[in-house]
Amino acid sequence: LLVLGIETSCDDTAAAVVKGNGNILSHVVSSQADLLVKYGGVAPKMAEAAHAEVIDQVVQQALDDANLTEKDLSAVAVTIGPGLSLCLRVGVRKARKIAGSFGKPIIGVHHMEAHTLVTRLVKPDVEFPFVALLISGGHNLLVLAQDLGQYVQLGTTIDDAIGEAYDKVAKWLGLDMKRSGGPAVEELAREGDPQSVKFSTPMKQHKDCNFSFAGLKTQVRLAIEKRKIKADVPVSLATDQDRKSRADIAASFQRVAVLHLEERCQRAIEWSMEMEPSIKHLVVSGGVASNQYVRTQLDQVVSRKNLQLVCPPPHLCTDNGIMVAWTGIEHFRVGRSEPPPPACEPEDVVYDLRPRWPLGEEYLKGRSEAR
Ligand code: ATP
Ligand code: FE
Repeated sequence: LLVLGIETSCDDTAAAVVKGNGNILSHVVSSQADLLVKYGGVAPKMAEAAHAEVIDQVVQQALDDANLTEKDLSAVAVTIGPGLSLCLRVGVRKARKIAGSFGKPIIGVHHMEAHTLVTRLVKPDVEFPFVALLISGGHNLLVLAQDLGQYVQLGTTIDDAIGEAYDKVAKWLGLDMKRSGGPAVEELAREGDPQSVKFSTPMKQHKDCNFSFAGLKTQVRLAIEKRKIKADVPVSLATDQDRKSRADIAASFQRVAVLHLEERCQRAIEWSMEMEPSIKHLVVSGGVASNQYVRTQLDQVVSRKNLQLVCPPPHLCTDNGIMVAWTGIEHFRVGRSEPPPPACEPEDVVYDLRPRWPLGEEYLKGRSEAR
């Protein structure tokens, strides 16, 4: 079994070829980091153009690196949501073109399911059911994974995702934004005192599994203003004292943001064990799962509950084609794929794109009593 995975839901254009046994034959990511720095975020039209410019190259490179041609593939998997529809369309168009021209089945993949399931490529003994914390730039989800395509959503963010908060904090602290902000904050935080600024933990009074990062962001912004830190002075040019002050804020922000994750994960594990006592793993994935502090802290929570923490290696936590190919393989194996599209599709054909696609039903929906 050989599956090509294509990912264009946000700002990375990625493709990979993965074998049914989990062997990764190729892995190509083209990032729009330069555009992000220039425009301070993802502008859909610009992102679409950037994907369109590199998609052919990225896919060709993935095939070349794997020493294959389209003919050798068993199927093509592509992210169909959630994400920016203009961007999703670029990947789906490419996937359908290959599938149509070479008569290959096509598998539509949920981006967040892909972030989750890539863990099973790395560690095949992660069996359903398990609990998953998905922390990235656009999502902050806690789910009970019951089976392929079957998730119960235990909690989500009521405002921003943690990755978004890391990115903003990085910007306000004058960190190098050539890559995403998270790794830069993590690095600077190592020099700071995590107890120096007393930020309050979000949603303490809400005994649920939802998240909120907007209030914490505001607390950080106020602390930065109070200390008169200037984002336009890069941290590399700051005085020692200024640098220490920024590091203290980074460390204090990180401590509280992650404490919020810890509290919610602990509760999510308790809720899930009531439903599925056989649970053995907490899977943590998405870009922020590459953070070492996040891993260390969550490992403690999970150990107290006698479970095991599983995180993919960092290059599989951020967006990539491998996770899409692998999720395609998992679904293909149980017979979930679509027949090849026509070899020549009209330009105006309507694709099945799902820009807003929840991962599973909400746990509390329909329950009269909030827990
Ligand atoms: P989504 O998956 O929700 O659609 P996305 O695909 O843009 O969003 P990912 O590529 O999964 O997100 O993750 C990117 C996010 O992860 C960014 O917000 C980035 O700052 C954050 N991130 C990456 N590495 C780290 C790190 N070491 N520490 C904290 N955050 C990190
Ligand atoms: Fe992602």
